[in-house]
Amino acid sequence: MITLDPNIQELLEEVVNAFPTGTIDEATKRDAKGRLKILLEEFKVPADEAVRTVISYIARQRQIPEEAVAPVHAPLTKVSDLKPETWASLKVRVVRLWETRSDVLAQTGLVGDETGLVRFVVWKSGDFSRLIEGRCYLLRNVFVQEYGGRLEVSINRRSRVEPIDEDIRPPRSEISGAIVAIHRSSGLVQRCPECRAVIKGFCPKHGRVNAVDDLCAKIVVDDGVKACTVLLNADAIKNLTGIGLNEARDIATRALDRSAVLRELTKRIFGRYVKLEVKGGGEGRPFVALAAEFDKVREMKHDPKESGVKGSDGIKGKNGAREPAKRVLAAEIYRSTHTVETSGSKVLLLSGELCGRVFFVGTLLEKTRTAEGVWKLRLADPTGVFYAFAGKYQPEVVETLHETDVPAIVAVVGKLKVLEGKRRITFLRPECLAVVDFRTRDLWLAEAASRTLERLNKMENSDNTMSRLAKEVYGTSTAYARKAAEIAMKASLPKTEK
Ligand SMILES: [Zn+2]
Repeated sequence: MITLDPNIQELLEEVVNAFPTGTIDEATKRDAKGRLKILLEEFKVPADEAVRTVISYIARQRQIPEEAVAPVHAPLTKVSDLKPETWASLKVRVVRLWETRSDVLAQTGLVGDETGLVRFVVWKSGDFSRLIEGRCYLLRNVFVQEYGGRLEVSINRRSRVEPIDEDIRPPRSEISGAIVAIHRSSGLVQRCPECRAVIKGFCPKHGRVNAVDDLCAKIVVDDGVKACTVLLNADAIKNLTGIGLNEARDIATRALDRSAVLRELTKRIFGRYVKLEVKGGGEGRPFVALAAEFDKVREMKHDPKESGVKGSDGIKGKNGAREPAKRVLAAEIYRSTHTVETSGSKVLLLSGELCGRVFFVGTLLEKTRTAEGVWKLRLADPTGVFYAFAGKYQPEVVETLHETDVPAIVAVVGKLKVLEGKRRITFLRPECLAVVDFRTRDLWLAEAASRTLERLNKMENSDNTMSRLAKEVYGTSTAYARKAAEIAMKASLPKTEK
């Protein structure tokens, strides 16, 4: 490229910026300026070439290693082609920004082009104006490094950030829903330093090793239509809960028990609505979270095709996929007393679907312990009440109940059962239970109301076996479900306008 009347001062700046701060003294600057002038004016070399030539001349003179010198224009690279320990330039959109707790980083987040997503950090020393979520940029001279087993783009003082007017569309894989399960393997774990496998002092591949601590979680995120297994690493857990590796170690030390970390994580994330940026997944493998945050405003999606995982890598229809937990209001749980034998006994809901797992958020009104050591819980939402029973097969639930004062807002996942007798009573057998906040309760109410109406509309418009059976055994009682949905919808609305 031929640049007419090049501004030598600006080119000199480019030369100086290629070197670590403080390595270029005034004498070298004068020398560089002289050489630039000669190359441009006498030899008529293009500006880029002149800069490149002078940079490599200075590097040789001052014996500065090649890798310490930033390229003038690192090659424009696609995200999927990034390699560790190289310089690159990228045209990207900022997909997500999140809080940084670091003293040296100005921003961290996720950028992407049409080939993929990558994490980035902006160093404070770079003195850039802040990147804005959703905007597109040309990032010149960023350094690609591997951090925690993943690539990361480092925007440092050698980098240049230029807003651009292009429409770059990174592939989005977003999962949103409630956390309805946390796998027992989650929490403070030990890894083999060689292969990163989770071990207990001894690696099957590498024998006796000095295991390193790590924090991770395997969770199930469920929007009532699809359930996805997602792995959270230490960063994602810290973003969500404020608990990092150090805090996790403290918790374990204080309790003299590593599993105390899992209990603490459960308290903080179980039942909460989250929004996750993920990669991978499919073929029975879990997704890996690139970014995680609590979902503050949940937009209800009425079209099941639209909900859950967006993008191409959903797990729909895979064998062995976990059945989503249904959102069922108390009034409907209480009145759905008919069971159907399929693979095990399932409760037929008023709204015409068979129900295995339920995700419920409401008020724990009473907890009483029977002589047999079984806890009897009375749970309520604005539409009614029902019972749950937890015994020795749910030790975590029992432990949480010991610590919980009533009344409390709780999230609970479990299976519906029917107590046979003179009067049939439908109750919940909790698998996991945690105290949550009012906002989670309101989000759940809105969601449960929508899902109930969806089920009812489907039942009215279809003539499948379960719809017919529900109409037959419940008759006009199905109207209770619609009434409950209306009450819940109203109750979920904020009391005061902001
Ligand atoms: Zn190993």
